[in-house]
Amino acid sequence: MNTNDPADLRARHAAAFMPNYGVPPVALVRGEGAYVWDEAGARYLDLIAGIAVSSLGHAHPALAEAVSRQVATLAHSSNLFVNEPEVLLAERLLGLLGAPGRVFLANSGTEANECALKLVLKHGGATGRGYVVAAENGFHGRTLGALSLTGKASIRDQFGPFPIDVRFVPYGDADALKQAVTGECAGVFLEPTQGEAGVVPPPAGYMTAAREICDATGALLVLDEIQSAIGRTGHWFAHQHDGIVPDVLTLAKGLGGGLPVGACVGFGPAGTLFAKGDHGSTFGGNPVASAAALAVLDTIDRDGLLAHVRATGDHLAEGLTSVGHPLLAGVRGRGLWRAAVLTAPLAGQVQEAAQRAGFLVNAVQPDAVRIAPPLIVTAPQIDTFLQALPAILTEATQ
Ligand SMILES: *Cc1c(COP(=O)(O)O)cnc(C)c1O
Repeated sequence: MNTNDPADLRARHAAAFMPNYGVPPVALVRGEGAYVWDEAGARYLDLIAGIAVSSLGHAHPALAEAVSRQVATLAHSSNLFVNEPEVLLAERLLGLLGAPGRVFLANSGTEANECALKLVLKHGGATGRGYVVAAENGFHGRTLGALSLTGKASIRDQFGPFPIDVRFVPYGDADALKQAVTGECAGVFLEPTQGEAGVVPPPAGYMTAAREICDATGALLVLDEIQSAIGRTGHWFAHQHDGIVPDVLTLAKGLGGGLPVGACVGFGPAGTLFAKGDHGSTFGGNPVASAAALAVLDTIDRDGLLAHVRATGDHLAEGLTSVGHPLLAGVRGRGLWRAAVLTAPLAGQVQEAAQRAGFLVNAVQPDAVRIAPPLIVTAPQIDTFLQALPAILTEATQ
């Protein structure tokens, strides 16, 4: 084994890691803006951004500067001590949300949802509510609490039974939700658009109906915005499209721009459900991760990236719609968060053909290709993909 040969990385990955991911097809060595380079020097336009994470693209000077400065100042404090970046981040998030609330900082999406689930269970315990509702095909994470909420049998069933009574309803069906949520229900977990299911938006009015159903029954409405928030849809938060305020909101992915950070926000009474000692995380509120998140939020603000996401997202969707290839059935999603829907289950082949052509996309479902570029991607960069797409689709069918 030649440990100095980067081309060998995939084989070494296969030997050293648990087989839960399989071996990823490309080893990335560096990035700049919306581009990344592999170990052989090939350049790719990054249209997946590390699963909707690298919001500012790669090696963004604002992120590099904030992280370098903070790591050289104070890298960690633990929750035994206050640090300024965590306070600034919590205040900043509440300011963007525009509703009174309290924040818990975590290190990942699944941890943010564990916090949300504990809030829901505490609410249920205090008010005699014994079960939770979530959506079929929803994705909330891989740790046991979040996994129990995840509505996909293939990733969930072999690790059950779970100690939490979770009842699943078809996503987007307001009547089914109303049936399922009684005065015994402690909370409802929903994504404002289902990400891992293939960027599937609900029908108009569904989120408002969910808010009304929870108001009528006293169940907490938890919105999992781990993938959908921080500008991804052209608003800071996807639920702002619907004009509702959840009781609990979870964030991660794009918030840290590549640094691990998650957040759980409780609004109104849900913000103060925990008493001292009820929850914690050694790394949560880490100053470096918090400084990264602040740099992401500042840059989105300063560079007008929300308007940019709306414009380039529309450009991408219009371009996909007008490609006119027999393998392309249509496009779903909002902003820079789209699925190219296929007429056949060839998403894996499309991902591979795109990669050979220098574009990174993600086969999120057998018939759906996810496109979630860095928020800084430009229309001309998107055009290079749109121009290459017919040949990519044709290659995928061969
Ligand atoms: C990615 C994701 C999660 C899990 O986040 P991790 O950081 O991988 O734990 C949870 N919910 C949604 C909607 C996600 O997209």
